[in-house]
Amino acid sequence: MDGNFNKNDLERVVSADKAHVWHHLTQHKPFETGEPRIIIEGKDMRVWDQNGKEYIDAVSGAVWTVNVGYGRKRIADAVHAQLMKVCYFANSGGSIPGALFAEKLIDKMPGMSRVYYTNSGSEANEKAFKMVRQIAHKKYGGKKTKILYRDRDYHGSTLAAMSAGGQDERNMQYGPFAPDFVRVPHCMEYRKHELGLEHLSGREFGIAAANQIEDVILREGPETVGSLCLEPVTAGGGVIEAPEGYWERVQEICKQYNVLLHIDEVVCGVGRTGTEWFGYQHYGIKPDFVTMAKGVASGYAAIACMVTTEEVFAHFKDNPDDKLNHFRDISTFGGCTAGPAAALENMAIIEEENLLENCTVMGERMMGNLQALMEKHEIIGDVRGKGLFLGAELVTNRETKEPADEKDVMAVVADCGAQGVIIGAANRSIPGRNNVLCFSPALIATAEDIDAITDAVDKALTKVFG
Ligand code: PMP
Repeated sequence: MDGNFNKNDLERVVSADKAHVWHHLTQHKPFETGEPRIIIEGKDMRVWDQNGKEYIDAVSGAVWTVNVGYGRKRIADAVHAQLMKVCYFANSGGSIPGALFAEKLIDKMPGMSRVYYTNSGSEANEKAFKMVRQIAHKKYGGKKTKILYRDRDYHGSTLAAMSAGGQDERNMQYGPFAPDFVRVPHCMEYRKHELGLEHLSGREFGIAAANQIEDVILREGPETVGSLCLEPVTAGGGVIEAPEGYWERVQEICKQYNVLLHIDEVVCGVGRTGTEWFGYQHYGIKPDFVTMAKGVASGYAAIACMVTTEEVFAHFKDNPDDKLNHFRDISTFGGCTAGPAAALENMAIIEEENLLENCTVMGERMMGNLQALMEKHEIIGDVRGKGLFLGAELVTNRETKEPADEKDVMAVVADCGAQGVIIGAANRSIPGRNNVLCFSPALIATAEDIDAITDAVDKALTKVFG
């Protein structure tokens, strides 16, 4: 940590924060006596707080974002140069980095064609929802407006994105929600008893879980269903990879009932799952919409993208004399040039440093370490995930799979923090039972980093659960 800030400056920062900042997802009462953690510097996998305490960041900025790690000078330089050239012009026109990043991104996404720039994952998803609605009005006489989303998935914090929210704890007290969003069941093998599918396993289970989506389409009427929005690997709902057979069957169902497939890559996108650039590319999925945000520029600038096929795009450019016949949407800051300038460098770093491969190798190492912890600690009921996107579900009873108490789970998170390792917890599906420990270190993680993270978890589990 450099010495740019002296102790007095930092005390002022802490008191200004305590007096005026409203933190996300935070109950502020404890700050009347304590103080929030303020991260004042980051380098590679490590961050430092206001007290000079060093942490390994095992969650890439707390929410799966800083994929290439902190302190990347070449991203900062590229953003600086671009801002000095031209910082902004509304995206109804174009920009140099906007054009070049779109070209580079589409090169990584065979079958996809058009990039719509916006600011956040929530907005990117909303853009796709609006397109589905507009297609319904243009092509299907106002039918096919329904958007299906899955139990345990999350698509954002704005009200329509929350209407597609499958995590009940997040939605409580914020209703009523937008109409024509319909929930389909989750596909989690570990909790297949909730689906009445405990007698099935492997591929048979995957197909049966996907068939539950078909049941919903038939119940609602296929002529009313416009799209199906899914995370390729569910993040905040508990780090859930779909079972074998699932995606193949989902794709067939979408084709059969003329339902557009929207894949939310906000967490998985841009390398997080290893080997492939996007989560959906592991499973042979052919989406109509792909949305992404967090890893696109690793948090160096705010940027999100909604990517479509040329077929979707074509709906909005036929009949040019009809004034209503284009996508009538704008996102002011979708015209910021810092986003695509940072995203271009971010992608170049991942390529040049072979981070997709490193993610796979380090993900396997971390999975091995977590499996060893599961043998040692009865409280771990399941470990799962893909690449450097992993979770460990804590249960008080491996037979009944009763989720561990959130207070105990948060005690593990806090103890890791005290040891200098920042980890997270997820599963907002069951209020008060946020019972999945989450790990998503930067794609640059080394074997030493991974082992240090799982060693801290081991110690914390012993301390909290014995
Ligand atoms: N989709 C998924 C899968 C997410 O995890 C998130 C954010 N955690 C979002 C969408 C929303 O992104 P944002 O917070 O940038 O609006």
